[in-house]
Amino acid sequence: MTSTEPIHYRIVPARPQAHIFEVRLRIAEPDPQGQVLRLPAWIPGSYMIRDFARHVVRLWAYAGEHPLAVDKLDASSWRCEPAAGAIEVVYEVYAWDLSVRTAYLDTTRAFFNGTSVFLAAVGQEHRAATVDIQPPPGDGYGHWRVATAMPRAGAPRGGFGTYRAPDYDALIDHPVEIGELTTMSFRACGVEHEVAIAGRHDADLERLCADLSRICEQHIGLFGEPAPVDYYLFLVMPVGEGYGGLEHRASTSLICRRQDLPHRGQQAPGDGYFDLLALASHEYFHTWNVKRIKPAAFVPYDLSRPQHTRLLWIFEGFTVYYEALALRRAELLDDSAYLERLGRVLSNVTRTSGQHKQSVAASSFDAWTKFYKQDENASNAIVSYYSKGAMIALALDLELRLETGGQYSLDDVMRALWREHGDGTRGLDEEGFQPLCEAVTGVELGDFLARAVDGTEAPPLTELLAAHGVTYDLRPAQSDRDRGGGPVKDADAAARRPELGASIVADPAGARLPVVREDRPAQEAGLAPGDVVIAVDGIRATADNLADLIGRVPDGERCRVHAFRRDELMSFEVKPRPAPAELAVLMPDPQASPEALARRHAWLASDSRAPATRDTAIAGVAGGN
Ligand code: ZN
Repeated sequence: MTSTEPIHYRIVPARPQAHIFEVRLRIAEPDPQGQVLRLPAWIPGSYMIRDFARHVVRLWAYAGEHPLAVDKLDASSWRCEPAAGAIEVVYEVYAWDLSVRTAYLDTTRAFFNGTSVFLAAVGQEHRAATVDIQPPPGDGYGHWRVATAMPRAGAPRGGFGTYRAPDYDALIDHPVEIGELTTMSFRACGVEHEVAIAGRHDADLERLCADLSRICEQHIGLFGEPAPVDYYLFLVMPVGEGYGGLEHRASTSLICRRQDLPHRGQQAPGDGYFDLLALASHEYFHTWNVKRIKPAAFVPYDLSRPQHTRLLWIFEGFTVYYEALALRRAELLDDSAYLERLGRVLSNVTRTSGQHKQSVAASSFDAWTKFYKQDENASNAIVSYYSKGAMIALALDLELRLETGGQYSLDDVMRALWREHGDGTRGLDEEGFQPLCEAVTGVELGDFLARAVDGTEAPPLTELLAAHGVTYDLRPAQSDRDRGGGPVKDADAAARRPELGASIVADPAGARLPVVREDRPAQEAGLAPGDVVIAVDGIRATADNLADLIGRVPDGERCRVHAFRRDELMSFEVKPRPAPAELAVLMPDPQASPEALARRHAWLASDSRAPATRDTAIAGVAGGN
């Protein structure tokens, strides 16, 4: 068995109206005991068992013209009857999920991750694969094109035909977008990057590419050239409502709101555009942090079962930290706008009572069953390893800068991780981060990390930020939608009004409470998640007026709340009180000392790449920059 014939796949969006891909798989040398075929149960980057094989509708196997019997072994695996020569497997995959994690097909667009459509020939995952990507049958698809970072093996650029991957792991790490695409290329540090936008939009691609190139150069500059890829693809799917991204080795799939794309003639794009840039920045940073520098637990991936690690706070949290920092350093945000964005990330932690119960290490470990399976009690029970990880990254960065007089920072730690673990074969051990960090910077971190990572204590942000010319405060939320970050703009609304301590959404009967916060007035009165409030003191309540009705109850007094729980009318005596100060507000400190200002500049300015340019920039601050 020394043949090097690749595993060959042919994928066709065979029935777009029925959302069915047809895949043909040819295995030259099947296992003589009967070839086992398997689809992954999860996709790297999204830590939840999804059992993609449940979307395989029908499956047949043949040896030449001869049909082979196929047994189902478990949720994700099949075994074909033993055959002497090559076998061919034909199967249909249902694809109707508009997310970056699976597959989608209709008459306007085809999208797939290999994890949803390419069966692994078990035992032959090391073999190279070729993939023939074909258009749907029939007229009407002549304008469809293909966008993927999978290397071409005969297919014309952007076209249908044959692509290749060196092994199964690579095969499933190149999502494919097919349809009406708008593309534009740009270079960052000499490397070709491409943006492919699917479907209808009026995006200003020039602006998007110009801004993305500055972000990419920040990340490449941080880790050092050469970049780990010689081509990188941003796949963008604009929709009415939606937001999400998934990282891959040389590409990312992004879903954004159509209105968040910059449009031609627009002078100042809104906050949503910077959300999109931050999302792209996040996924691009993963090209280093998690796609190549990995937790040892992921080397190699076992996609048949959950793989637990306590380190996702590094791989996601640090990525959140750098996603916006790169926007600041690329001068797409000024200090105030950057700090507001950072404050919103911190608010995701400071506004939950879960932060006091779950450590970020435990949040990482249980990502599969808690963070990815959040229910109505999540904010009372868990902490996000994204947001708390970013909080720790911030504190660690500032601590290192302060302790070493600006000589070292988290940037140096990231470069060391890249040097030591960037080839993807030696993952970061569960206990490996602290020794590496200390070796690089000479700063002893024992207590600092233990408290923040394994405990539930918040790091000393007030002092660390003050030393960097930034004020850190907490203020009450004004509404469910208040994300914090910056000060309250409307002074009248800022007055602290009594509240329920529950989120409020519209319901045909009144105002539904999807989340009831722990130890807050609604819970104390006995209201439960899902209750539909219909009246406050005999006045009809709706999602629009409930907060106002409660806000008018004088502090210290009670009100009568009527609500339905399922089909039962219930009555509650509620004592509303003002919301606690729990949203983080970060602002440049107008009273900062010159030393603190210089530290802030060294932290946030676009000079993080090489010590030589950093000196120049600090000199610039002294000159009044
Ligand atoms: Zn991420």
